[in-house]
Amino acid sequence: MNDQENYKKALFLDRDGILNIDKAYVYRFEDIQWVDGIFELIHFANTHGLLVIVLTNQSGVAQGKYQEADVIALHNEMKKFLEARNLRVDDWVYCTEYDSDRRKPRPGMMIEARDKHNIDLSQSYMIGDKASDLLDIVGPKTFLLRGNYPLDEIEKNKKAEIFSSLKDILERLKKEIN
Ligand SMILES: [Mg+2]
Repeated sequence: MNDQENYKKALFLDRDGILNIDKAYVYRFEDIQWVDGIFELIHFANTHGLLVIVLTNQSGVAQGKYQEADVIALHNEMKKFLEARNLRVDDWVYCTEYDSDRRKPRPGMMIEARDKHNIDLSQSYMIGDKASDLLDIVGPKTFLLRGNYPLDEIEKNKKAEIFSSLKDILERLKKEIN
């Protein structure tokens, strides 16, 4: 049985726009350009007891732009690249379909990760760059990076905090975790 002490905290990360620059439907490692500040952010999580879990919508598969095998292969390459720099992503969760409870902003992928890794969502964080990265679930705090997508609605209703760099998000996170 799990007791309270076994619950873990997590840093959930959207992939495109947070790990790599969002060039729309990236699926080859050669097209990966890492976002400024991502290594420092992952390092902080790795050294402060936060699991790092990627949650990514990959509807390019449903659209036939690339295959699920490409997604898996890309994540393996990214993982290898990070591990060579002593950075750890604990899990890569993706959704290939549109009509799915797992597709963000629906919370299926996060619930799946929560149950698999025994995560306390109320002590966890989601970082993304799109309104749909604010998931329909109570618990985690959401920090959004201003990038390619409109965040005006979110800003208005204050359901997430909005930042202009991952460096600023890391500084914010440091106030939460010590
Ligand atoms: Mg994104």
